[in-house]
Amino acid sequence: MTIRLFDTATREVRDLNPITPGEVGIYLCGATVQAPPHVGHLRPAVAFDVLRRWLTRRGLTVTLIRNVTDIDDKVLAKSAAAGREWWAHAALYERVFTQAYDALGVLPPTYEPRATGSVPEMVALMERLVEKGHAYSTGEGNVWFDVHSWPAYGGLTRQKVEDLSPEEGGEPTTGTASDAKKNPHDFALWKAPKPGEPESASWDTPYGRGRPGWHLECSAMARRYLGDTFDIHGGGLDLRFPHHENEQAQSRAAGYGFANRWMHVAWVTQSGVKMSKSLGNGLLVSELLNEAPAPVVRYALAAVQYRSMLEWAPDTLDEARTTWERLSGFVARASERVGDVPAEEVAKADVPEAFAAAMDDDLNVPQALAVVHEHLRAGNTALASGADAAVRTELVTLRAMLDVLGLDPADPQWAATSTDDRYAKALDGLVTAELKARAEAREAKDWATSDAIRDRLAAAGIEVQDSADGARWTLS
Ligand SMILES: [Zn+2]
Repeated sequence: MTIRLFDTATREVRDLNPITPGEVGIYLCGATVQAPPHVGHLRPAVAFDVLRRWLTRRGLTVTLIRNVTDIDDKVLAKSAAAGREWWAHAALYERVFTQAYDALGVLPPTYEPRATGSVPEMVALMERLVEKGHAYSTGEGNVWFDVHSWPAYGGLTRQKVEDLSPEEGGEPTTGTASDAKKNPHDFALWKAPKPGEPESASWDTPYGRGRPGWHLECSAMARRYLGDTFDIHGGGLDLRFPHHENEQAQSRAAGYGFANRWMHVAWVTQSGVKMSKSLGNGLLVSELLNEAPAPVVRYALAAVQYRSMLEWAPDTLDEARTTWERLSGFVARASERVGDVPAEEVAKADVPEAFAAAMDDDLNVPQALAVVHEHLRAGNTALASGADAAVRTELVTLRAMLDVLGLDPADPQWAATSTDDRYAKALDGLVTAELKARAEAREAKDWATSDAIRDRLAAAGIEVQDSADGARWTLS
């Protein structure tokens, strides 16, 4: 067994050789909790969830750390605009993100550190960089990483400092002493409070009071939970530069090995343009969950290989829905025929070799789904011919493969959404017949019968609304 994954740093697909055999440590940059998530925010979470599920099924013990950036320029600005304490604002959106992850079946990370919980580690890392001559303070609360002190700077994204435009890499300066920054590409390790910022949003350091820079947060948290060197660092494609370049520079300049491999998940696009709230094309996860059942949204996000752009077209959800209904329909019918398969059996079942080969090849989910569909066809054929032993085999195999993708229709996660639609059709047929009888009774002015029908439906939890087009029903 060899799992091969693309490494953004070396730009090649390489064998995964864990530092500690049998274990994999992953750091995934999580949300800056300042606003509700759109679907572009959830794609990396779903992609890394699939990675984690696959590594786990391959027998590896995965430690997944996904941080929460709860202190940051945007959190401060948005909370001030909303008239909330910054920590209340961050906590509010952290919960909204958690709900979105849970709704889409993203397993909780092993640990989810908040940036504000690792300030001592950040200060220690910063002090180490200052001692080693890779960082400098320009006065009360402002500390910068000196990119010219670190010749390997730009190594992750293969750029040279000289080739960067002045606005790249570095960040807008804050405080009063910021003009003294040596080089425009030097980036902030610590930031002095801006006028008007709450006292609670800054911490004492040997260089004055302030708050951490975003890059320093991730370097400190990754080391705290995964050690000096760890297996995989990941995030969305847009984090490669400057965020990940800066993280790597800080950690390596401090003398730590940091990430052995980098994985980046491509964007969700609309008409070829990156989905983003600032561009006004960010589809909120909450809106999508009103449009389609959660597993349908997850299928749409998971079905494309993680390094390919995912173009969100008007029919994306419809296509995902059709496929999901085929898969969940088979699982429902097969389970009805041969009985429910225990979850433990699904977890232990072998997946087909072709499926495993596709997943080992840099998580080639489209190829893996082709194998899923072959088995779906075989399962349906077995159902039609009454070959129950084959139905059971295909049911177990199909559920095992879908479990790797977080899309096993029989998983309790999807129980509320994967009900067989034949039940809905049967119910509709019965209620429609009742409503027809009621309409006839009303036409004959037989109010006793018409009321009795209405009461019977109400007792069954069905609400009837009369309109010009006739009566309609909903579940009350
Ligand atoms: Zn990060």
